Amino acid sequence: MAQYLQTDVLIVGAGGAGMYAAIAAAETGANVLLLDKSIVGRSGATIMAQMTVAAAVGEEEPDDWRFHLRDTIAAGRDLVDEPLARILCQTAPERIWEMEEWGVGWARSGNHLTQAHAPGHDRKRCVYVDFLNTGPATSRTLRNQVRKYDNIRRVSDLIVTDLVTQDDRVAGAVALHLESGQALSIAAKATVIATGGLTGMYNRNSASANMGGDGFALGLRAGAELIDMEFVQFFPIGHLAPRLIGMDPIMWDPFRYKLGGRLLNGNLEEFTQNYGTPEDGKYVVTRDTATYAIFKEVEAGRGSPHGGAWLSFEHIAEADLRAAFGPVIDRLAKNGIDLTKMAIEVAPIAHYHMGGLRTDDSLACNVPGLFATGEAVGGANGANRLSGNAITEAFVFGELAGRSAAAFSGQAMPDIREAAKPLLAMIEATANRPGDGMTPTAAIAKLQGIMQRNVGPFRTRAGLQRALEDLSELAVALPHMPTGSAPTFNQQLADWFGLRNMVLVAKTIATAALARTESRGAHQREDYPGLDEDWANNQIIRLEGDEIELSRGEVRRLAKEEFVHE
Ligand SMILES: Cc1cc2nc3c(=O)[nH]c(=O)nc-3n(C[C@H](O)[C@H](O)[C@H](O)COP(=O)(O)OP(=O)(O)OC[C@H]3O[C@@H](n4cnc5c(N)ncnc54)[C@H](O)[C@@H]3O)c2cc1C
Repeated sequence: MAQYLQTDVLIVGAGGAGMYAAIAAAETGANVLLLDKSIVGRSGATIMAQMTVAAAVGEEEPDDWRFHLRDTIAAGRDLVDEPLARILCQTAPERIWEMEEWGVGWARSGNHLTQAHAPGHDRKRCVYVDFLNTGPATSRTLRNQVRKYDNIRRVSDLIVTDLVTQDDRVAGAVALHLESGQALSIAAKATVIATGGLTGMYNRNSASANMGGDGFALGLRAGAELIDMEFVQFFPIGHLAPRLIGMDPIMWDPFRYKLGGRLLNGNLEEFTQNYGTPEDGKYVVTRDTATYAIFKEVEAGRGSPHGGAWLSFEHIAEADLRAAFGPVIDRLAKNGIDLTKMAIEVAPIAHYHMGGLRTDDSLACNVPGLFATGEAVGGANGANRLSGNAITEAFVFGELAGRSAAAFSGQAMPDIREAAKPLLAMIEATANRPGDGMTPTAAIAKLQGIMQRNVGPFRTRAGLQRALEDLSELAVALPHMPTGSAPTFNQQLADWFGLRNMVLVAKTIATAALARTESRGAHQREDYPGLDEDWANNQIIRLEGDEIELSRGEVRRLAKEEFVHE
C-alpha cells in the first residue's frame, strides 16, 4: 500500500517562490507540505541567482513603483499582463524590506541600500547582496524563516509526477520518492506549482538540471492553461571562453553594470548601435536586443573566435576592477583570467521563461484548487523580462500564492485514494522497465539539441516544423525507453519522468512559436522579421486529450492613468 499524506496546502518546488509561499501560507495557520525533487531550499534557480533584484525602494535616487511598472511594460513589448505586473512592481518594496528584516543583508552604501542601474530600467533600481551572493543569501534567509514554522513539513527528493484531479478540481498529487524508490500520494486542499522555469531544455543554458519545465506539464495534464510559451529569454552574455570552472556562466552581467564592460565584435568594434541601441558606456541594451545583435554579428562573420562576442574590461583601472570584483578576481585568476590584460568571450544562453501557467490576480489557475507562483507564472513580463524582475517575482508571487492557497484551503480534505490509483500504477509500471534503445538521459541530450537548433532565439517555419517532427519521434520512443533498475536514487527513472514533461512542454513552445508569424521580444522569426501590430495578443495553450490546442487571448491592460505619472 503506497504511503498516503494529507495537507492543507501542498507546495511543489522549494526555490525562492515555493519557500515564500510556504511561509505566507503557514502564517495563516494552514498546514503546509513543502517538497522538492532535489533538496528543499538548495536547488533550482534561486540559489544560483547572482545579483539584481528590482524594486522601487528609491534608496539611491527617488523612485516609484509606477516607474518600475512603466519600464516592465515597455520591455515586455506590448504583451505584459499589466494587472499582474502592477502587483509585481507595487508589492516589490514591501518584500525587499521584509527580507531585510529577516536578515538577508542587502548591500549598503553608508546608511542606505545600494541600487544598481540594470538594462531597461530608467534609474538605479536593483538591490543585491555582495559579491555574487544574492541567490545564496536570499535562499538561506528563506530557509531560516521556513524552519521557524512547525506547520511547514519539508520533504526533499520527492518528484511530483502528476497532479490528481477529481470533482473538476486539483485535489493533490502523486510523487516518486527518489531515496526509497516508493510512489506515494498526497491529498491537498490547495496545490501551488512553484517548479520554476524550463531553460534546462536547451543545451546552452544557465540552469540547474532541475529546470525542465515540470510544472507546465503537470498543470497542462490537469487541465490548466498556459500563456505565451514561445517566449524563452536568452541571456546575451553567458560565458563562452576561456574555460571557467566553478563559476556561474552569467556572472559577467553585474560587473558590466557596475563598471561598463565593453561589448565588441570580432573586429574589436562596438556594434549594438547598429541594432538601434548605442551603449554610450551605460550598458542599457535590453536582453532581446543584445542577443539579436550578437547572433547577427556572428552570422555576418564578425563573431569572436568561439562564435560569440568579446567582453572587455581592459579600459578599467586595476584598482577599480579589484574594488568591484572583490574576491571574485582571485577566483578568475585561478581560471587563468586576468581582466586587465584580456577580454573574455560571451554568447547568448537560455536563461528564463516569460511564459507559463495562466493565472488570475490571486495567482489561481483556471482549475480550482491549483495556484502557480514564481517563474512558473506566465504573463507578468510579456515578451521580454527586465533584469532583476525574476527574483522579485519569486518573492512577490510567492507570498501572494501562499496567502491565496491558504485562503482556498478552508474546506473539507479531499479523499484521493481512488483517483490516485491509476497514476500510482503508472509510476510502478514505469520503474524497472528493461526497455530498449535510447536511455532517457541520452534522449534529454537529444531534446536539448533539437530545442537549441530549431527553437532557440531565431526561428523559421521549416526549423520549427522539423523540431515538432523530432519531438514527436521522441514521444513515440518514450514508452519503450529503459528506466534502470537501481532500487534507490534511480536517475534513469527520474530522467524518464523529466523527459516525459520536457517533450510535452517543448511541443508547446514550438507550436506557439510556429503560430506567431512575427518577431517580438525573445521570439524572433527569421522569416517574419519585425513586429506585427495584429499580433499584440497572448497565445493560450491547453491540452485536449493528447493534442495541444492553441488560441489567442486579449492582453489584460490597465488604464494608462493608473500607472504613468511624472
Ligand atoms: C544562474 C542564474 C542567475 C540568475 N540571476 C538572476 C538575477 O540576478 N536576478 C533575477 O531577478 N533573476 C535571476 N535569475 C532568475 C531567477 O533566479 C529565477 O527566475 C527565480 O529564482 C525562480 O524562482 P522559483 O522559486 O520560481 O524557481 P526555482 O528557484 O528554480 O525553484 C524551483 C524548484 O522546483 C523544484 N522542482 C521542479 N520540478 C519539480 C517536481 N516535479 N517535483 C518537485 N520539485 C520540483 C526544483 O528542484 C527547484 O528547487 C537567475 C537564474 C539563473 C539560473
